[in-house]
Amino acid sequence: MAVTEVPSQRTAVEERRDWWKSAACEGADPELFFPVSAVGPGEADVARAKEICAGCGVRRECLQFALATRQLHGVWGGTTEQERQLRFRDTGRHGETGAARGSRVRSV
Ligand code: SF4
Repeated sequence: MAVTEVPSQRTAVEERRDWWKSAACEGADPELFFPVSAVGPGEADVARAKEICAGCGVRRECLQFALATRQLHGVWGGTTEQERQLRFRDTGRHGETGAARGSRVRSV
């Protein structure tokens, strides 16, 4: 059985090949971006990952990729999985962005 790729995801994956080359996290410890949890022992890792993201020139592209491909784990574009879940929920239920409704998620 052939695997069918969703067109919007295929485009996002193809585009990632370009912007990923400029990622500020290249060479960083992957455990910072994929900690055991966003609280407790992993909280310091998440904070450090967000610091790296804050200085990343492709942060917007990274976050768009994570949202388009529904990345469920890790820090992407300076957001945690919980923060992205809020965006999914906000856009899924109401058809408008969280930012348009004053979401608690920080925009990039
Ligand atoms: S925004 Fe963060 S996770 Fe995304 S490429 Fe840049 S440094 Fe890496």
